[in-house]
This record gives sequence, structure tokens and C-alpha cells, in this order.
Amino acid sequence: MSIPGQLSPAPRLLLGPGPSDAHPRVLSAMTTPLLGHLDPQFLELMNDTQTMLRDVYQTKNTLTFPVSATGMAGMETCFVNLVEPGDKVVVCEKGYFGNRMTDVASRCGSKLTVLSQPWGQVFDHDQIRDTLKNVRPKVLAIVHAETSTGALQDISQLGKLCHEFNTLLIADCVTSLGCIPVNLDEWEVDAAYSCSQKGLSCPPGLSPISFSARAVDALKARKSKVQSWYLDLTSIQSYWSGDRAYHHTAPITMIYALREGLRLVLEEGLEARFARHVRNHVALKAGLGALELPYIAARGCRLPQLNAVRIPEGVDDVACRKRLLNEFGIEIGGGLGEFKGKAWRIGLMGYNSRPSSVFQVLAALEQVLRGAGVKLTPGSGIAAAERAYVG
Ligand SMILES: *Cc1c(COP(=O)(O)O)cnc(C)c1O
Repeated sequence: MSIPGQLSPAPRLLLGPGPSDAHPRVLSAMTTPLLGHLDPQFLELMNDTQTMLRDVYQTKNTLTFPVSATGMAGMETCFVNLVEPGDKVVVCEKGYFGNRMTDVASRCGSKLTVLSQPWGQVFDHDQIRDTLKNVRPKVLAIVHAETSTGALQDISQLGKLCHEFNTLLIADCVTSLGCIPVNLDEWEVDAAYSCSQKGLSCPPGLSPISFSARAVDALKARKSKVQSWYLDLTSIQSYWSGDRAYHHTAPITMIYALREGLRLVLEEGLEARFARHVRNHVALKAGLGALELPYIAARGCRLPQLNAVRIPEGVDDVACRKRLLNEFGIEIGGGLGEFKGKAWRIGLMGYNSRPSSVFQVLAALEQVLRGAGVKLTPGSGIAAAERAYVG
């Protein structure tokens, strides 16, 4: 047998829905030699990580830490810990990840009510209020930043609304954390989860979660054991706080990465970081407009970090993305679910939200679209972005 060659993939610019590129400082932190998972030095690093995570989530929640797996494990952690068989759950579905919540909630044996909106749209509070009033669920779950459609769901008033009906709010913040405001305490979110590879510019592998005091009370009041051993917060908790009892071996290198990623977020400052995401989004949007690529999400609810646009009639999705990847080294996302073959999703997340990404993707897209027969004035995308930056 011949040994595969040394690892050396062609460089890529990851402008899809995730993973996005890790910050160079994160990659360098990951070359730090390992510590034992109970080494006092490592316990210090865990404390740092939790403290910074609370700042980034804008919460004082004690139960805040990264689950040792990707974003989906965060979703599953929230549901399996808060939902027991027979509990009433409402899932607000308006895209691919809402669908997944429905699947996860049903596997917990919940009595499920699904509230749907067409993909690309968002919910208004009256609709949700009526359902809460009729169903009186234990849990309502919703995606903050729906990565499949690029739509931003306002959840800032939703926690208060849920609490009027004694309902817990689970929010998917996988694509929002580190890109747009996420304010768990002010918004009264009870359980939130995110990931490391999108707005926090780390590799995939961790899912930061946070549970409110209300959610912790619900966890304590459970009648049955949590169905998942690995994700049972009643036991993982004692590794991340208190007696530091062994639960599973923490992914040491990933914690180094997240710690550095969080340091970068706080050094920049939350407000400055959110403003940067908006600035680069506005420039990209101007460029995409000039390339005649219309947004899917309505004006006023578009995510700056995930720009989902319709592919022009007659343009081959896969062929274009292949050219972007092979000739320009740029990855963008295709459509999921009902948008398969119909949408492109361009991520400007965390470290990747910068003018050079905007100009590179617009220049490459123009080449690819013109190659596919779309009539465009040469340089129009770049010029529009440049005008947007100048203001
Ligand atoms: C990416 C994503 C997930 C899943 O996260 P993984 O890290 O891929 O497991 C869940 N919800 C939303 C909204 C996402 O964008």
C-alpha cells in the first residue's frame, strides 16, 4: 500500500454558511502543547473561556459553557435537557434549521405543535402569542439567524412573551453569535446554543450553550432522566463548575481555539464587531445588486453575515460553484431544502467579514456569471461595493 501524500490542500476562502475561516491567531493557539483536562492550568483556561462566553452572550447565566461537539449537539442538548416525554413544545419553522428542531423535539417524545412560515419570511409576535395562548407549551423554540434563507428573526421581545405563559424560550444562535447582537439576559432567552465555526472564527467542534436560572429550575424539576448520557447537563455541569468531576475528556485544543476566538471578539468590542459586519454586508449587497442577484429575505430582515440570493434563470448552480472553487479558491454555499439549485449563500462571518472577501467574491462571481452567459457590465459589482464603502 502507498502512503497518502503529506496534507497540503489548495488554499480556500470559506465564504459559505460555515465553516468560515479560522482567525490566524486561533490556528496558532491550536499549536499549543496539550495539558491534561484536570490540570490546574487547564481549569483556569476553562474559567477564562466561560467568563468570556458570558460576555459575548451578554448574560450572567452560571450554566454557560461549550458542549464538546458541533452546533447540532447544542440544539440536541437544549431539547433533551428541557423536554420530557409528553411535554408540549412549539417549534417555529421558517427554514431548514427550524425543520431540524422539529425532528429533534419529536425524538424527545414531545407533544409537538409546528408553526410555519414560508422559507425566507419571519414570524411576527402576534402569531406566536396566539399559539402560546392556545397551546401553553413548556418550550417554544426558534432560530434567530436562519442560515438556509438568510433571514433574521427578531427575538428581542420573545422571552418576555414566552414568560407570560410560563413557557421556556430556546433560541438557535448558531449563525448569530459573534456577528449580530445576541443579548440573552435582556431578551430573557432561557436556552441558547451556537457553534465555534461561524461568527467566532474557530474550527468546527464546539457548541457554546447557556441556560437561564428558569431553565436550570426546569432541569432540576425533571421527573425522568435525561435520555442522552453524553449531553446530560446535570452531570457535565460538575466538570465545568464545582467539583470538576471527570465526565468526558475535554477537547483541549478546541478549548484553546475558542478561548482565543473569544479574546478576539472582546478585544474588538461587540458593538464594533457588529458594525463591521453591517458595513461589509452593505458593500456586498451593493455589489450583488449590480450583478443582478436579488436577496431572498425581505428588506429589514436580512442577515449581514449570511447573504442568500436567487440564482438567475438558466444559470447552472453546481457548475458555477465548481468554477468559483477550482479557479478562484472561493467556497460559497448552495441552497438547502426547497432552495436547492435556486440559491447561493455567501457568508461574511467573523474574521471573514472584511473588504478583501467582499471584493474577491464579487470579482470572481462576475467572471463566473459572465462565463455562464449573463450580460453584465465588466467591473460593475466591484464598483458598486467600492461606492458603498466610500458612502
Ligand atoms: C450551522 C447551523 C446549525 C448546525 O450546526 P453544526 O455545527 O453544523 O452542527 C444549526 N443551526 C443553524 C441555524 C446553523 O446555521
